[in-house]
Amino acid sequence: MYKSHMRLAIEKAREADSAFGAVLAMGDQVAVSVSDADPAQYDPTGHAILQALRELGKLTHEIRFPGYSLYTTVEPCPMCAAACITAHLEAVYFGIALEELSLGQERYPEALSASKIFNLHQNPPALGGGILADECRELLHFIQ
Ligand SMILES: [Zn+2]
Repeated sequence: MYKSHMRLAIEKAREADSAFGAVLAMGDQVAVSVSDADPAQYDPTGHAILQALRELGKLTHEIRFPGYSLYTTVEPCPMCAAACITAHLEAVYFGIALEELSLGQERYPEALSASKIFNLHQNPPALGGGILADECRELLHFIQ
């Protein structure tokens, strides 16, 4: 786990005035760093994690990325968690939990957390949370 990769994800989010940044890396080598899609694109699947996976696909001409790790400022939502499984990622590291994002509205109950979704699969990515959480939490002001 490389905190420098999470710092880059935070930087990508900040550059886009967003709370969401994502990096895909093979070990210490960063392959892709993105934010979520501009809301003006009206794409409900424009989450930073999916943007990152799409970019890596274009770069590698592959649809599975074993050996790659994802660094994301916010825990993957159910859609993105499923995509991380489909992409055969080795590990997923996030800053803050989805729960913090929903700001008490309970949009994402515990049953839809990345860990619960990963646990439904036989061979999910490793999962680690709380990476540079304070810095990631500071990004929330962009979306409040
Ligand atoms: Zn998502």
